Amino acid sequence: MTASPRPTPSAQQPRSRIPGSGLAKGLAVTLRTMTRKSHTAHYPDAQPALPPRTRGVIGLFEENCTVCMLCARECPDWCIYIDSHKETVPPAAPGGRERSRNVLDRFAIDFALCMYCGICIEVCPFDALFWSPEFEYAETDIRELTHERDKLREWMWTVPAPPALDPRAEEPKEVAAARKAAEKLAAAQEQAGRPPAEGEDA
Ligand code: SF4
Ligand code: SF4
Repeated sequence: MTASPRPTPSAQQPRSRIPGSGLAKGLAVTLRTMTRKSHTAHYPDAQPALPPRTRGVIGLFEENCTVCMLCARECPDWCIYIDSHKETVPPAAPGGRERSRNVLDRFAIDFALCMYCGICIEVCPFDALFWSPEFEYAETDIRELTHERDKLREWMWTVPAPPALDPRAEEPKEVAAARKAAEKLAAAQEQAGRPPAEGEDA
């Protein structure tokens, strides 16, 4: 089988082209883009408007941490470092048993390794870890990206407040229990401060 000969340039049909059409097309694209709203911000002069669930940095609410180690075990990058020791707590009531509890010595996250997956925050059973949208913590020394507990606590002040509850939602159990306890206490205090009614023992 013989291949059909390729047409020579002289045999090709010349493409009809209006002179300057390419320039006009280019100018049209430029004009269209100029009139569109810009998606970029002049950072750092203009701060970006970040959504509240932005994964910027992780804050630690130390008071809630029971040193259960779940976050450190589940972290895929092994970039959470926790040290603790056990402490004996005296019994709450006379005759009770002594208890032991974990005391946090070190809690650090290496943000040079962290991949911002959020697993640690998801798995924490005691609401001790939170996302903050802060992102301005670049360092020239990579070692500075390991944030120790004091720094992680500081990030807590930048954590946005949770969204308001749906007004038709059921009252959370914790809130209902706290409200009932407060009402009971207020009633007891009122009873103690009230002058005895007629017929009641003083
Ligand atoms: S966000 Fe992911 S990678 Fe970063 S510390 Fe948490 S679990 Fe580890
Ligand atoms: S999972 Fe939560 S409570 Fe447990 S060690 Fe981590 S931060 Fe603390």
